Amino acid sequence: MCQKAIYPGSFDPVTYGHIDLIKRAQDIFPELTVAVAHNPQKKPLFSVKERVEMLKEATKDFRGVTVTDFDGLVIDYASRLKANVLIRGLRMISDFEYEFQMALTNRKLNPHIETIFLMPQESYSYLSSKLLKEAASLGADLSSFVPDFVKEALKKKLRDVS
Ligand code: ADP
Repeated sequence: MCQKAIYPGSFDPVTYGHIDLIKRAQDIFPELTVAVAHNPQKKPLFSVKERVEMLKEATKDFRGVTVTDFDGLVIDYASRLKANVLIRGLRMISDFEYEFQMALTNRKLNPHIETIFLMPQESYSYLSSKLLKEAASLGADLSSFVPDFVKEALKKKLRDVS
């Protein structure tokens, strides 16, 4: 059966951890939609448009990958896209409880969509957008965590908001 996958998240901003997962998913699924959640309650640093643009740039050479945004329940958006697989990442055991709850809730809401967890390369297994923003605000060098264009966007954004 032809599988269409969706990889939802905040991507605020996209990191090498997310990109690693997108590469792994595109090796398995012929069609992959990376979907940026509006998530205003998380008070994202970057707008949806900025997050989508950065993901598009990061995945421009990838085959079969589309970047979109969505509002509301991910499972509803996935069924509108006719996706039958939902990709999530597992970094540490600390991700497990939340991801497990969410996967089971989503399964209850729509049993036809299967959640599949992928693990990143070990060197990205501690990397999170949240930590990255904290490190950036303290002036850390982010070269090993994000592509250069994200590094520059972060610097600019942090200058603009301060
Ligand atoms: P969300 O707000 O949906 O958790 P994130 O952008 O933080 O959005 O993460 C989206 C998905 O990508 C989550 O499943 C998360 O576990 C995964 N993820 C985030 N960072 C990494 C990473 N460094 N390696 C692997 N997966 C990651």
